[in-house]
Amino acid sequence: MLIDSFQRKHTYLRISLTDNCNLRCFYCMPAADYTFMPSAQLMQPNEIEALAKIFVQQGVTKIRLTGGEPLVRKDAPQIIALLSALPVTLTITTNGIRVHAFMDVFKAAGITSVNISLDTLQKEKFQQLTRRDEYERVKANIDLLLQHNFKVKVNAVVVKGVNDNELLDFVAWTQHIPIDVRFIEFMPFEGNQWKSDKLVTWAQMLETISKTYSITPIDCDVHDTSKQYRVENFAGTFAVISTMSAPFCEGCNRIRLTADGKMKNCLFAAEETDLLTPLRNQQDVLPFIQQNIVSKHKALGGQFSTQYNLIDANSLHNRSMIAIGG
Ligand code: SAM
Ligand code: SF4
Repeated sequence: MLIDSFQRKHTYLRISLTDNCNLRCFYCMPAADYTFMPSAQLMQPNEIEALAKIFVQQGVTKIRLTGGEPLVRKDAPQIIALLSALPVTLTITTNGIRVHAFMDVFKAAGITSVNISLDTLQKEKFQQLTRRDEYERVKANIDLLLQHNFKVKVNAVVVKGVNDNELLDFVAWTQHIPIDVRFIEFMPFEGNQWKSDKLVTWAQMLETISKTYSITPIDCDVHDTSKQYRVENFAGTFAVISTMSAPFCEGCNRIRLTADGKMKNCLFAAEETDLLTPLRNQQDVLPFIQQNIVSKHKALGGQFSTQYNLIDANSLHNRSMIAIGG
C-alpha cells in the first residue's frame, strides 16, 4: 500500500500519455510558445505498462489516462490494450475530438466511462477558447458515446467573464441527456494567466444555479473530488470541483505520472520524482515511489491555502497543466 504521512492510501493513478494536444485551451497551455516533449523523452508503451504494474502491486485499483490529449498519441490503442490487462478500472479524460476512432479500442479494453472536456455550448466561443474549430465534432462524439452506452462526464472549467454565463445552459443540457456535467474551478498553473478575480467559486456557482433550479446534493464518497447535485426529474446531474475554494485533500487517493515518467503526488506539488530513468537503468523503482509518497504535503502541494485571493500565480513552482497531465 502507498500510504503517506497523513495516513492517506493511494489507489488511483493518473497517467499522462503526452503533453501534445490538438487544442490550445488558454487555461491549460502557457501563453508563451510551448515546445512539446521530444518523443524519446516520453514513456514508451512497455515502460508505461511496467510502471503501472508496480503501482498495481502496491494497491492501485484505478488508472485514468490523460494528457495533453491522450488520443493524439499514435500508440494510444496499444497502451490502452496493455493497461486493460491489469486488474484495474481503466478510464480516460479526453477533449473528445478523436473519440469516434477509438470506440472499438475502448470497448475491447472494457472502458465504460469517459470524461470529455467541453467548456462552452457555443460554437464560436469554443473556437476562441481552444483556438480550433472542433465544437461539432466534440458534441457529435459525446452523442456517439451515449448511443454506445458509455457513462459520460463533461468537464467545464469555469472562468469569470468567459463562460460563467453558461452555467444554466449546461444544467439545462442535463434535463433530457444522462450526462454528468462537472464545473471545475479555474486553477493556477505556469503561464495560464490565472488571477483570483477570474475564479468563480463553488458557492457562487451554486448561488447562480439555485436561483433557477431546485437542487439536491447527492451523497458522495470521501475520495470524490466533486460535490454532486441533482435537479429533480433531470436525466443527468451536475457537480462542482471546488479545488480552490474548498479543496478535498483530506480524502486524496491520487498520484500522477507525467508523460516523461515523473511521479507527482499532487497536482500542485513542486516536487517530482523521476521513475523513468531508474526503470531504464533497471534499478528497483519502488523505493523512489515510496520516497515520493511519504513526502506528500497535507494540502495543495504545500504551495497555497484556500485564501485564493492571496495567491500570486507567478510565484508557484509547477509545470503547466498540459505538461503535468490533468
Ligand atoms: N486533453 C484532455 C482534456 O482536455 O480533457 C485531458 C487533459 S486536460 C489537462 C484534463 C482536464 O484538466 C480537463 O478537463 C481540463 O479542462 C482541465 N484543466 C486544464 N487546465 C485547467 C485549469 N487551469 N484549471 C482547471 N482545470 C483545468
Ligand atoms: Fe488540450 Fe485538454 Fe489542455 Fe485543452 S485542456 S489544451 S484539450 S490538454
